[in-house]
Amino acid sequence: MHIPFSPPDISDIEINEVIDTLKSGWITTGPKTKLLEKNIAEYVGTSKAVCLNSATAAMELTLRLLGIGEGDEVITSAYTYTASASVIQHVGARIVLVDTGVNSYQMDYEQLEKAITPNTKAIIPVDIAGVMCDYETIFDIVHRKQSLFRPSTDLQKEIGRIVVLADAAHSFGAVLKGKRSGSIADFTSFSFHAVKNFTTGEGGAVTWRDIPGVDNEEIYKQFMLLSLHGQSKDALSKTKLGSWEYDIVYPGYKCNMTDIMASIGLGQFQRYPQLLEKRRQLIQFYDKELSHIGDVEVLRHYGQNFSSSGHLYLVRLLGKDEEYRNKVIKQMAWKNISTNVHYKPLPMHTAYKNLGFDICDYPNAFSMYQNEVTLPLHTQLTNEEVKYVVKALNSILQESTWKGRDINVLERVE
Ligand SMILES: *Cc1c(COP(=O)(O)O)cnc(C)c1O
Repeated sequence: MHIPFSPPDISDIEINEVIDTLKSGWITTGPKTKLLEKNIAEYVGTSKAVCLNSATAAMELTLRLLGIGEGDEVITSAYTYTASASVIQHVGARIVLVDTGVNSYQMDYEQLEKAITPNTKAIIPVDIAGVMCDYETIFDIVHRKQSLFRPSTDLQKEIGRIVVLADAAHSFGAVLKGKRSGSIADFTSFSFHAVKNFTTGEGGAVTWRDIPGVDNEEIYKQFMLLSLHGQSKDALSKTKLGSWEYDIVYPGYKCNMTDIMASIGLGQFQRYPQLLEKRRQLIQFYDKELSHIGDVEVLRHYGQNFSSSGHLYLVRLLGKDEEYRNKVIKQMAWKNISTNVHYKPLPMHTAYKNLGFDICDYPNAFSMYQNEVTLPLHTQLTNEEVKYVVKALNSILQESTWKGRDINVLERVE
């Protein structure tokens, strides 16, 4: 048996949508991208959505739309993928990293409040594994700190406080208190990268809540300009007979979604409720199987007020250290089971060390990281395979010594 970590789930529906696009004579941004945007906005419950080539682009363009840059500060979690923070650097603002709470994958909300200064323009909470952050608390904090806020653009003035930009790369489809991810934060960015729940190969989208006094069409237009060279007309409008002329209003970026990508998304969209349900069923089966094993703690995905998108199955090996966890991962690999770690905190990476971050300042994130293992979870997984994974993990944890066998494992892995 070989158990991959998260292969894409592509059916004939996606394949036929792609073929349809390829045969249609229009393969870049066009009707399919616009339809996917409409579907996403309807699904999450916003007025509009914009599809782009990644979640990273969605976050970066949102910061640019807001006019965040030099002299500004943006806060995100130390416990995330680099994209949540690198976009802050890209726009020229200062990255502020906050430690996680004790035994939590989310930011410590007290420390978040303390990290706010008059230069803070945005907070990027991260919905780890598809479980949404505590947005009520986050909004309470930005309202409490409203008097510190110093807007420097018209849009910032209209919003009138620190902007909450959700990194919802994992949480498409998640629900918190009856509201879908995408309709809770001021802006929300989704990833449709190949390993994510909902995929377009590469891709992403941004949604936003209506802002009183601001026209949604205007925000949409700004995203179009930012993502397509600052060009006043997209490629499809330019193909209209006799309609060649366009203007470049500023030197913009290039990160639009193509109709080929969007057609994969349109196929995924039709199947997404079943895909989410399958994830729920697998997670509940994992929870049940793992409940018989001592000294492991699993992340809760479903509760009274919330339902995650079931993106990642995170397990903590209680009382264990980084070295032990790494050995477990190698032993799992030896048994042909792919696992992962979500995440190595940003201050442990060279780029963030070079920016002056030190993991010693993030003890809670380190203690989450050191004994975390992410088990395979994808929509082609079977209950039999879940049993196999849990049995393998259990037998590895039962072993008192791995002397000798480590050598084999290393040979196997290399
Ligand atoms: C995947 C991921 C991203 C980046 O998504 P892209 O679409 O690849 O840009 C950002 N944040 C988190 C937490 C992610 O897992």
